[in-house]
Amino acid sequence: MSVIIYTNTCNGQAITSAATFESYNPATGEVLGLVPSSTQEQVQAAVAAAKAVQPAWAALSDEERKGYLMQMAKVLEDNLDYLAKLVTQEQGKPLAGPGSVFEIQGCIGWTQVPASLELPVEIAFEDDTRRDEIHRTPIGVVAAIAPWNWPLLIATWQIMPSLRTGNTVVIKPSEYTSICTLEMVRLLNTVLPAGVLNSVSGSGEVGGWLSSALGVDKIMFTGSSSTGAKIIQASAKNYARVTLELGGNDAAIVLPDVDPAKIAQGLFWGSFINMGQTCACIKRLYVHEAVHDAVVEELNKLAAAMPMGNGLEEGVVLGPVQNRMQFNKIVDLVEDAKQQAANFVCGGAAMQGAGNFFPITLVTQIDNAARLVQEEQFGPVLPIVKFSNLDEAIQMANAVEVGLGASVWSSNPEQAREVANRMQAGTVWINQHGTIHPMVPFGGIKQSGFGVEFGVDGLKAVTQPKIISINKALA
Ligand code: NDP
Repeated sequence: MSVIIYTNTCNGQAITSAATFESYNPATGEVLGLVPSSTQEQVQAAVAAAKAVQPAWAALSDEERKGYLMQMAKVLEDNLDYLAKLVTQEQGKPLAGPGSVFEIQGCIGWTQVPASLELPVEIAFEDDTRRDEIHRTPIGVVAAIAPWNWPLLIATWQIMPSLRTGNTVVIKPSEYTSICTLEMVRLLNTVLPAGVLNSVSGSGEVGGWLSSALGVDKIMFTGSSSTGAKIIQASAKNYARVTLELGGNDAAIVLPDVDPAKIAQGLFWGSFINMGQTCACIKRLYVHEAVHDAVVEELNKLAAAMPMGNGLEEGVVLGPVQNRMQFNKIVDLVEDAKQQAANFVCGGAAMQGAGNFFPITLVTQIDNAARLVQEEQFGPVLPIVKFSNLDEAIQMANAVEVGLGASVWSSNPEQAREVANRMQAGTVWINQHGTIHPMVPFGGIKQSGFGVEFGVDGLKAVTQPKIISINKALA
């Protein structure tokens, strides 16, 4: 069977490159297709195309751009089955459960919601002599660099608010999941004017070329803190504004008053959605000694009950780790925990056979200083630290350089809120974790990045304020 060569979209046209690279199905190891390695000239052409049409796109009325977003939501709906299957084949998350169908449904919601939001003119000051208005204007060309864990959903978070507010976009997918993102961009282009949404793909240099390109006015990046730091440096060349969503090492604190059976599902999916390959997953679980054993037992029961395998198969709700780089990181952290004599309640060893399968792994009797606790595992391995003193648990939860999400689990709302107030994170959830919403701002503190996405604040982040200041005496 011949291998499909996928294409980028630039100025509404399908674009190939002389060089290509392979994208793999992580459940089988098979080649899914070939992806163009964009050249620096192609990156510059995509930025130039976006630049050329941006004034006309910005000149459309809000109602017209909202109409385009609703048309794109319809394209996503019409192609849900095709895109979900591609995501399962390339990213690995199953069709079922909180998997690829859920991801495309999220894309639809995160397209419709920005279409429903307004950024009205605000009055900063007004008296008899003057009136000062804040207008929100587009920034220009947005360079969007999307990751491999939620390749369409996070691309949507970058694309839709940008287009809604009059920017144009060049998106660069992760080299691990380019095909599904390129295909979504191609499909969205069927209802957009040429040049409004463009893609470039590649591995190694393309992200750097794009983020430092003259003509880029805003960079939106989701990925590692180290690449985030390089993007901040790149923005010194083109003065691009940046929104960085850089992952974290989210802590969850479980207080002694919980009912372990009632919170188990929330803790399980809060930790293992997308096999833990989610920026705001529980990555460190601190459980009070009074309920520690019962919580571990409930999680272990759930882990045993969740079918893992090729996500195209019916009933499968857990897939493979997306790529070998991440798989090796997970194995390394697990081996380190073994050397520290931690206790493996379940899992702990890669599964035999094709694909990057690593089982759900619960690790107890682990020191808070262990690498598995201190470093982001971004995978299906959860360290569970027992505590007796709440102040110490909060101190351990906060003693990291990142702060994306956190959660507290308790049947006492007042105490939960008090703990939430003391946890250092962009979002602290109570009795839930990772439950993001398109109306609610989301972003990290410390090395988890800066800027927010979603809701009205997310729209503001892809605009710049323009003040119109009126002298009333001469008006
Ligand atoms: P990276 O953070 O390194 O991001 C890779 C992407 O960034 C690629 O598209 C790459 O393109 C681009 N890139 C690399 N250098 C630059 C640069 N200087 N300027 C602009 N873009 C650049 O992620 P990885 O996929 O390598 O994953 C590393 C770790 O990041 C994971 O182990 C995980 O911990 C974390 N991660 C976090 C995610 C989250 O949701 N927060 C998502 C995915 C990963 P190119 O190579 O072509 O330049």
